[in-house]
Amino acid sequence: MKKALILGVVLIFGFALIIGCGPSDEKATSEAPEKAKTTFITIGTGGITGVYYPTGGAIARIVNKKKDVYGIRCTVESTGGSVFNVNAIMAGDLQFGVVQSDRQYQAINALAEWKDKGKQEDLRAVFSIHPESITLVAAVDADINDIADLRGKRVNIGNPGSGQRQNSIDALEAVGIDYKTDMNAEGIKASESASLLQDGRIDAFFYTVGHPSGSIKEATAGARKVRFASVTGVDSLLAKYPYYAKAFIPVKLYPGAENTENVDTFGVKATFVTSAKVPEDVVYAVTKEVFDNFEDFKKLHPAYAVLTKEGMLEGLSAPLHPGALKYYKEAGLK
Ligand code: GLU
Repeated sequence: MKKALILGVVLIFGFALIIGCGPSDEKATSEAPEKAKTTFITIGTGGITGVYYPTGGAIARIVNKKKDVYGIRCTVESTGGSVFNVNAIMAGDLQFGVVQSDRQYQAINALAEWKDKGKQEDLRAVFSIHPESITLVAAVDADINDIADLRGKRVNIGNPGSGQRQNSIDALEAVGIDYKTDMNAEGIKASESASLLQDGRIDAFFYTVGHPSGSIKEATAGARKVRFASVTGVDSLLAKYPYYAKAFIPVKLYPGAENTENVDTFGVKATFVTSAKVPEDVVYAVTKEVFDNFEDFKKLHPAYAVLTKEGMLEGLSAPLHPGALKYYKEAGLK
């Protein structure tokens, strides 16, 4: 019942994001019939209880306000996450996507999931967004305080297609845990993790996500007491990979969790990417609208509180798309 209620609320919120972009769009079409050509673009995000989904919604809403100026109609798709988004953009199924900074680096350098596929040469960076931390949520009754305690436990490390899957594997490897033999690893979507934990079907889950996120709120608000477990002993990882940095979980955002102090972990950044095949004027318009409406954009999610325009040009490893670069030069940011 409770699950159904949460899903209902989430769905209504999701629809509101999409429908919220609609009215001005229809008005623009009827008022400017001469502008016959509409360019449709879709942003790939993540699970609806993550931060990527509302991020896609925030960008789409800002872009759609100028439908009559640019003729661009932007929609948002919930997806399996970063890796799925890169692959769908490269296949031309999506035009934009939210992708972890480490996944952007790996895709452009033929690492991790792209080791056999080769360099994703057409991947282009647009800007970076909020910080994300490798978040390990565990049931208090499972006696897990740190990643080292996951041996022998049932843990959702993330679906193939998600960003968190490789982050979990990297972190486990760094502390000497083989996810295939030393524990029961599940590969389920992050949107299901909270209910699996609350139902006692897993002991813990990993989620690489910005804070606060709906999924972590859901996980910490149930009858089964949960805590954030620290992810320590991963210094070798931080030294080896340029895209990982120390981070912490701001526990005050989740009053339902057992923790009282912030919890140590490591993190990455969410970034916004596209393909070299997406036209310059489209990427220019999207970039310009987000940056010209920066203060409004920042208000659309609490995870954006730390954003600065200059910071949004950091953490990118794919070449900048020429449409984005054009805007940054005009705005004096490059
Ligand atoms: N970082 C996650 C991923 O790449 C998604 C997080 C979110 O949806 O906010 O799969």
